[in-house]
Parts: sequence; C-alpha cells; structure tokens
Amino acid sequence: MGPHFPPMAQINLSDVREKTLDNLTMNHNTSIASPSKEVRLTQNAALTSLVLLIVLCLAWEWSWAPLKPGGSWLALKALPLVFAVPGLLRRRLYTYRWLSLVVWLYFIEGVVRAYSDTGDQARLATLETTLSVLLFMACAGHVRARFKASLLATETSPSPDTPNTPNTSTSSQAQLTRPQAQQLIDQLKSIVGQEHVLMAPLDLSAYEQDWRKRAQGRALCVVRPALTAEVSQVVRACASFGVSIVPQGGNTGLVVGSIPDESGEQVLLSMQRMKAIRAVHTDNLSIEVEAGCVLAQLQEAALQAGLFFPLSLGSEGSCTIGGNLSTNAGGTQVLRYGNARDLCLGLEVVLANGEVWNGLSGLRKDNTGYDLKNLFIGSEGTLGIITAASLKLFPKPKSTLTAWAALEDLQGCVKLLGLAHEKLGAGLSGFEVMNQYSLGLVQKHFPALQAPFQEFPWCALLELSDNESTEHAQTQLIELLELAMEQGIVKNATVAENLTKAAQLWHIRESITLAQAQEGLNIKHDISLSASSIPAFVAQTERELCDLIPGVRLVNFGHLGDGNLHYNVQSPMQMDSAQFLRDFEQKVNDVVHRNVFALGGSISAEHGIGSLKVDTLPFYKDPQALSLMRRIKESLDPQLTLNPGRVIRMSDPSLDRP
Ligand SMILES: Cc1cc2nc3c(=O)[nH]c(=O)nc-3n(C[C@H](O)[C@H](O)[C@H](O)COP(=O)(O)OP(=O)(O)OC[C@H]3O[C@@H](n4cnc5c(N)ncnc54)[C@H](O)[C@@H]3O)c2cc1C
Repeated sequence: MGPHFPPMAQINLSDVREKTLDNLTMNHNTSIASPSKEVRLTQNAALTSLVLLIVLCLAWEWSWAPLKPGGSWLALKALPLVFAVPGLLRRRLYTYRWLSLVVWLYFIEGVVRAYSDTGDQARLATLETTLSVLLFMACAGHVRARFKASLLATETSPSPDTPNTPNTSTSSQAQLTRPQAQQLIDQLKSIVGQEHVLMAPLDLSAYEQDWRKRAQGRALCVVRPALTAEVSQVVRACASFGVSIVPQGGNTGLVVGSIPDESGEQVLLSMQRMKAIRAVHTDNLSIEVEAGCVLAQLQEAALQAGLFFPLSLGSEGSCTIGGNLSTNAGGTQVLRYGNARDLCLGLEVVLANGEVWNGLSGLRKDNTGYDLKNLFIGSEGTLGIITAASLKLFPKPKSTLTAWAALEDLQGCVKLLGLAHEKLGAGLSGFEVMNQYSLGLVQKHFPALQAPFQEFPWCALLELSDNESTEHAQTQLIELLELAMEQGIVKNATVAENLTKAAQLWHIRESITLAQAQEGLNIKHDISLSASSIPAFVAQTERELCDLIPGVRLVNFGHLGDGNLHYNVQSPMQMDSAQFLRDFEQKVNDVVHRNVFALGGSISAEHGIGSLKVDTLPFYKDPQALSLMRRIKESLDPQLTLNPGRVIRMSDPSLDRP
C-alpha cells in the first residue's frame, strides 16, 4: 500500500478550476516544470486566430453592415468569441474544446457567404473561413498537446511509494462551490485591496514555480497583505472556508515548500509587502523587522546602525527574514553565530485561526515556560505565519579576513578545520569546502570568476573575524596557514589582501549553486554529519554511486565547519538530465540517505523538508519525534490548513510499506 495522504482542506473547487486533464497536466508539472513548447505554441496560435476573428467580425460590421435594422449581426457574432479569451489565457481545456466546436458555425457561415456574396464581402467571408479553420486546428492541437503531456506524466511519474518525488499533493475533497470561492476572493479583496489579490495566470506564474524550476503548482489566488492585522483577517477568512494557505517569502527555498500544490485550490500568502524595519535598538543590540524584509536589506540596516547581522546566504538578495526563520536557515556564518534560530529573540505570529501571538519582547533571558518562538522557527509555515521578528545584532568585527587554501583530500580539510579552531578560537567565523568539479562548473558558467588553485581536488575558504585589528588578524591567519603547510595539510594558500578580493572569493563559493542550476537538473542533498565522519561518508558514497552510474558527476561543497555538505549529483555528460532524474533519483537518494543514516547524520541540515522530503522523513526520523510533531501540528492547526503536505504527513507512510 502507498503512503496515506492527510485529510486536508475539505473543499472541492471543481466548479472553479477544471480538474481531470488539467490536473493530470499539472501533476506532470510537479516533476517537470512549465508547459511544453507544443502547449504554449498551440495556445498562442489559438489566441492569435481568435483575436483576428473578433477583429474581422467587428471590422466587417463597422465598414459594410452597420448594426441597424436590416444590417448584419456580425457585431453580436463577435461576442461569444470575446468570452472565450480569458479561458484561452487561463488554459482552460473546457474553453478550448467548446471553441473547437463553436468555430464550425463561423466556418459554415463563411462558406455560405463566400459563395452567395461578391467582391470584398466574399473575400472577407473567405478570410473568416480561413481563420475558423486555423482556430479549430489550434484548439484541437492544444487539447492533443495536453493529452500528450498528461500521458507522459503518467508514464514518467514514480509510483506513489516513491518517497522522494516533489509530490506537493495535499489532497482536498469536496465542498467549496463557485459562489463560495467567489465569496472568499471578494472577502480577500476587501481585506487587502483589489490590486493585491492576484488571479491572472501571468501574475501568478512567478509565485507558482519553485526556484529550481522542478515543480510548478497552481494557486486559487495570490494575496499580498501589508499589515499583521490583514494577515490575521486573511487567515480567518480562509479558515472559515477551510481553504489552505501557503506562505511565501522570497521563494528561494530548495525543498518545494513555498509554492501551492497543483489543485488550484490553495491561497498563496505572499509576505513581499511586509518589509518594514520597525526599529533598531542599538543599546540592546537588536532589531525588529517585518517578515517580508529581504535579508540583504536587513544586513544593510544593521550596518547603517554601525552593527552587524551575521546571517548570510547565497540567496540573500531575494530571501526574506520570515523565510529564513521558517526554514531555520544556516549559511556561511553558523560556525560562529549559529543558525537563524540562534539569532532570533522573539516573534510575532498569526496562528491558524487568525489570532495574533505577540512574542516580540526581545528579551535575551525569559524562562517563563515553553519557548514558543522555537516551535515556529523551522516549521516551514505549517504552524503559523511569522509576521515580524526581533533579532540579535552584533558589534561589527574590527577586521574580517578571508583565505583560500588548496588541499589534496577531504581528510586534509577536516584536519585544517581542527587546526583553525585551535589557532583562531572564536575568531573563526566561516569554513567552507568545495571540490574541484564544483569550481569547474563556476568557471564554465561564469568565466569571469577565476578560482585560485583549481588543479587541486579540494579547496577551503576560511574567514577570520577579529575584534582587535587587521594586523592581529593577518598574523593569526598567516601563522595558521604556514603551520598547515608545514604539516603538509595545505598545499597552497592565499589571503585576500582587501575586502574586494575577499568578496570575490566568497562570490565564487556562492555561485556554485547558480552554476549547477545552469548545468541542468541535478539531484541535491543537504546533509549533516559530524565533521570527522564526512570523509568516510564521501568515500563510501562516491564508490557506490560510481558503480551504480558510471561517469556520474559529483558536485560537493558546503559548510564543513558545521558538518554540513551539499552532496549534489549530476548526470554523466552524455546523459539527458531529465532522463537521469527519472531513472536514478530514487536510487541515488537511497544510497546517500542510507549512508548518512548509518553515520548518525541528518538528511536535511539547513534547507528543510518541504514537500521534497516529506515522504522520506519517516524512514530516517525517530518515530517518537514524528509522533510529537504530529501532535504539535494537530493542536496548533487542527483544520490542517497551514501549508499542508509540507514537513510532516499526518499519517506515517513508512508504516504502510511492506
Ligand atoms: C542560490 C541559493 C543559495 C542558498 N543558500 C542557502 C544557504 O547557504 N543556507 C540555507 O539555509 N539556505 C540556502 N538557500 C535556501 C533558501 O534561500 C533559504 O531556505 C531561505 O531561508 C528561504 O527564504 P525565502 O524567503 O525565500 O522563503 P521561501 O522560499 O519563500 O519559503 C520557504 C519556506 O518558509 C515558509 N515561509 C516563508 N515565509 C514565511 C512566513 N513569513 N511565515 C511562515 N512561513 C513562511 C514557506 O511556506 C516555505 O515553507 C539558498 C537558496 C538559493 C537559491
């Protein structure tokens, strides 16, 4: 038996959104993003011929047969065609089918008039006939293309037992009728303003696709509140209709957690408009910001106040602090400052019933019971909507120095990490490693970024944050590297002579994810182990994967200082990456997760679970922990409307497996 899916929002918007083929096509889209070229081409052809037909009807009426007693009915004839435009734009199969039948009436009328009329009238009738045929062919072609896409989806989608499909399905049965859906949408418009409830397909598309373009969902609408009170009312309105909500910040998450499922029945709550910096408390070394504030802007606000906010990720120009807290993001400074969780002093959260919990006190010590903020941090929008946060700030280090070191093997990287801890103490604020292949990808896709020492199998990037002086930092870092070279651990090294050079080195490291995305679809892992186990894990896993897939390309990089490796697997050069995913994703995941588990590690270090790993989690997490997580979810979100199908299924698929 396959995994059970939880009883989620009890709604059926079949009246509002078409199901059947539409859904099949969208299911396809959950694993292979965006409609096929054929679908888009036939849609464009249908739209063009429809618009031309409408123009023809109106022009004909205007020039030759004004609408008056005795005139033609051509203007009225354009009307039914106009109604079809939104349906074609929204790719509603019903409209395409309906139009492919109705257009025959225009064809027949055109043929009759082409024979009975003369001169220009006859020519226009011929044009009408031609456009009708084109429209019919485009509509029929579109329906056929959608059929093909759905068949492909059925053929290629893994079995329901497959734990690692980006299955965003959250199930939804029965009940919301078209008038109820309209009522909900009207309510949402009255809360946030008409212009902040987005419904047009073009407006929705950026919100409906994940960053890696591996999954595509479909929302009932996107709502963009500007105030906590508005979020609260939106949540209340959705709860009263039993409609589920997917919160979204910058949509840079890597585990398919911030896009709607494919049902077309979920409301996507975008936090983009809630981006204010509410207050900077320099005396308390803290800052209060709204959840939609982009991380880079928060860092900038701290710097302007002469302070420092250490959370730093490759996506910091787009990700939001709400998303960072909801995923408990890590990044490159965890070694010294901790994860997003460690940087948070308090939260303001809208609960599943619309109530607001204000926990923004900003106290550094508060032992008055359970630490509620930590329930919401890392919960990926499944327990509440974070609307604001109080965060720690730090004095800006006097000097920050970056070094790049070349090493022969990963064991050497671990030794260097130990030495750096010993010699730099708390000053060590970053320790990243990158294998040769990952740096090669950066060079291939961003030739302007030249990494030093690319001839070595591994490189390490070290950062020292010093509170004394630049000279002190330089002495410490150079002494460390000299010692490591004397001991034969480091083969070559360079220290960035200024901040620009340092930023360039970090830019190379942060471009690996982007270079990989350019290279094509790949299988990503974000694992954590004790740093000392990582070489054994990499050696064993590499052996198994190379046996399984000769020529496989391994893109390994990550935050070794935190025991966190991004162990990514790219297809052999000559293999199509979509085919590679279909054939090997499950097998590769099994190897990687099994080896991580055997060494006592975690299958998700910093990216979270989302829907990508929701069905894998039960195989690798303690059953008691899963049971507690379910109880927490049930008590905070009894209707199961907050980001359903993410982080935890309400029944355990591992129990259903033979
Ligand atoms: C190039 C690149 C580099 C990256 N590097 C790192 C890295 O080094 N470390 C790391 O940890 N991650 C990294 N990520 C992943 C990603 O940027 C983080 O997970 C980030 O924290 C997501 O923030 P976001 O605002 O984009 O959230 P989204 O992607 O919009 O959402 C992520 C999750 O949080 C939920 N959510 C969002 N906002 C709220 C809210 N206000 N209230 C409740 N739930 C909410 C969503 O429903 C979803 O489940 C990287 C991503 C990219 C593309």
